[in-house]
Amino acid sequence: MSATLPQIEIPADLRPSDGRFGSGPSLVRQEAVDALAAAAPTYLGTSHRQPAVQFVVGALRNGLAEMFALPDGYEIILGNGGTTVFWDAALFGLIERRSQHLSFGEFSSKFAAGAAAAPFLDDPIVISSEPGTHPELAADPSVDLYALTQNETSTGVMMPLARPAGISSSDALVAVDATSAAGGLRFDAREVDVYYFAPQKALASDGGLWIAAVSPAAIERIERIAASDRWIPTSIDLKTALDNSRKDQTYNTPALATLFLTVQQVEWINGNGGLEWAASRCDRSAEAIYGWAERSSVATPFVADPAARSHTVATIDLDDAVDATTVSKVLAQNGVLDTFSYRKLGRNQLRIALFPAIDPADVEALTRCIDFVVERLA
Ligand SMILES: *Cc1c(COP(=O)(O)O)cnc(C)c1O
Repeated sequence: MSATLPQIEIPADLRPSDGRFGSGPSLVRQEAVDALAAAAPTYLGTSHRQPAVQFVVGALRNGLAEMFALPDGYEIILGNGGTTVFWDAALFGLIERRSQHLSFGEFSSKFAAGAAAAPFLDDPIVISSEPGTHPELAADPSVDLYALTQNETSTGVMMPLARPAGISSSDALVAVDATSAAGGLRFDAREVDVYYFAPQKALASDGGLWIAAVSPAAIERIERIAASDRWIPTSIDLKTALDNSRKDQTYNTPALATLFLTVQQVEWINGNGGLEWAASRCDRSAEAIYGWAERSSVATPFVADPAARSHTVATIDLDDAVDATTVSKVLAQNGVLDTFSYRKLGRNQLRIALFPAIDPADVEALTRCIDFVVERLA
């Protein structure tokens, strides 16, 4: 395979200062890794039931509440298993009878499929749209949970978060998968009841945890379902997670490094001006990549509607004359990593993360690297 790959060397002065553009796991700042190494002797390898680790969980919960400007009564809860496991937890512990799902890519379709397969729930309403677009919610009195995805990582589509017209949190919950959005895209917490994510994407940490900001209505739902006669496996029981989170713990052992790196990123963002600062950084990166694609004769933003073009994960189609996979491989040979498109989308495309940890100047440098490679492949 590599025998047929053109040998193209990108000059050092064109290359980004950090070559990690993957959409998850994503760039982890070296300062955060250094801080972990410094803290390691009294932190890694210590009990998660003792103050050293509970302090980090507390800092995570407080830091996220500050970053998201959570209204009174909202809480941060967490558990093990990442977003995929949170979907299962939500099937058991958040959906009362029937959910509605906006399905517009790989991730949003998975939660919908889980709800359809759950024998104790009514069939969900699934509203789909073509890859590269997003559907709209349709208020329905039979629905008790609306499932949104703020950023569909597989296609690079972002969508605004708002409750369905005429529906309040006492009628139905709004649950948002924010895995590749949390910490990089703006939102108003009053419009959502459950804002859940894993920290290996926009929050520049490692995988394995799920984290959720939950509203008073969501807490009430969690407690009511837990008290009902529905059987819930303990490891994904949200009431168990809620009780443990309130003690700055998880039910079973968490990845201590993941927790620490997440706190590093949240405190880095809060220390620099909070979510508005982080989102502005993503705006600058988005301007760099989409502006370049619009000027380029070989590249086009995949998402036609500029308002739906994600500011955390960009998808860029290349002209058929240039093979995107070859471009990504040549970039990788030069230390510029993980620009491959989402495989199942099957397009001649580059996918580039624009998360807050990624320097907008490096996104600009990446566009120059792509131009350099494309010119030599032509
Ligand atoms: C990556 C991703 C997931 C899956 O996250 P895991 O932590 O790997 O389970 C779910 N939803 C979205 C939007 C994602 O980007």
